[in-house]
Amino acid sequence: MGYEKSIEAFEEAYRVIPGGVDSPVRAFAGVGGTPPFIEKGEGGYLYDIDNNLYIDFVQSWGPLIFGHCDSDIETAVIDAVRRGLSFGAPTTVETALAEEIVSLFDAIDKVRFVSSGTEAVMSALRLARGYTGRDDIVKFTGCYHGHSDSLLVQAGSGAATFGNPSSPGVPADLTKHTLLAQYNNIESVKKCFAESKEGIACIIIEPIAGNMGLVPAEETFLEALRSLCDAHGALLIFDEVMSGFRASLTGAQGLTSVKPDIVTLGKVIGGGMPVGAFGARAGIMAHLSPEGPVYQAGTLSGNPVAMAAGLAALKKLKHRPGLYVELGRHAKKLMNGFKRAADQANIPMVTDVRGSMFGFFFSDKPVNNFEEALENDSEMFARFHKGMLDRGIYLACSAYETGFISSQTSDEMIDVAIRAASDVLKEISESEA
Ligand SMILES: *Cc1c(COP(=O)(O)O)cnc(C)c1O
Repeated sequence: MGYEKSIEAFEEAYRVIPGGVDSPVRAFAGVGGTPPFIEKGEGGYLYDIDNNLYIDFVQSWGPLIFGHCDSDIETAVIDAVRRGLSFGAPTTVETALAEEIVSLFDAIDKVRFVSSGTEAVMSALRLARGYTGRDDIVKFTGCYHGHSDSLLVQAGSGAATFGNPSSPGVPADLTKHTLLAQYNNIESVKKCFAESKEGIACIIIEPIAGNMGLVPAEETFLEALRSLCDAHGALLIFDEVMSGFRASLTGAQGLTSVKPDIVTLGKVIGGGMPVGAFGARAGIMAHLSPEGPVYQAGTLSGNPVAMAAGLAALKKLKHRPGLYVELGRHAKKLMNGFKRAADQANIPMVTDVRGSMFGFFFSDKPVNNFEEALENDSEMFARFHKGMLDRGIYLACSAYETGFISSQTSDEMIDVAIRAASDVLKEISESEA
């Protein structure tokens, strides 16, 4: 495969955009080489500007559960565009999308739309703090909740890839209210509650972590978090920006009996357009302006084009009840294939699957938290990633990301990916012999 045009485009971008990209992980720093510049998508495939064809297991980092250029979403967007791009006034499509979400998530009576996952989580935190009148929050190392100030502490993938877990420009005065605990380790959470002087407003967690690689929370751990929150009058926030509509139709909440107080959503609910949302029971949401005193706003919030895309995607999801079984079957087939290929090449690998999400680590032991994730062989990942890319398999360019199956991912595409993995891992192991 040639990447000449992408190399040129990257150099040109570099001159006018920091690092040549608008979101750091896209720069391929974790794996080396040049990111292919994308010309177009088509179902389960991507084409780059050098006319290379890839099977896409990134799907825009999650949103595209129906693959690229889904005709129903496309039609809904074009219809909306023809009526106007934005009004800054209420539209019925916002209510329609809100009704879909409320009908799916037990924990949500009311929902507010924003334009990104970052914004959703940032607003959810403010709401939790406003509702409880407390400042401290508990977050887990390796969980990513967007790039807002108080959450940019030990934040998984992008940060881990670049080795600067926190960021300059974030005042210590702000992050001092962010208490860090270890994923799947309840003692570390109890310690935060014991140490907090100001009282804890909320625990925020990815119930299925997807930003330190794929690392699901244990059911007993989630139950213990629920009890701790109840005992202390703190709120439990499930950040389902990634796992919502990905792990199941009702996200991680469809796979656990634990009910959160606030839920954040993003990615799939925009159908590929920029949408985020946060919701809770009515009594909590009543604290949000204009009903209550907690301020939150957005010029483009509930944008009619973005809402139309999201509504088309959710309606389609609801009308295909067997979809998640099919996505899960493909994800498992892919991971079993990778694992078999790794075994044959004598390379240690662990894998996991939740709905349409899949993850693998080059590691010889199970991964339950970020600290264990960091013990993976990230150099091996970089070599694997490059080998796969050269064979037309587009995987997330960091060892700490989750992969995604779309409805356009076929059995045949999975077979092609497994064969490629087998070739690449064999080549790596032979070069080391
Ligand atoms: C992607 C993600 C976010 C941030 O969403 P953006 O739309 O990128 O701002 C927040 N939380 C989780 C769990 C995510 O995966």
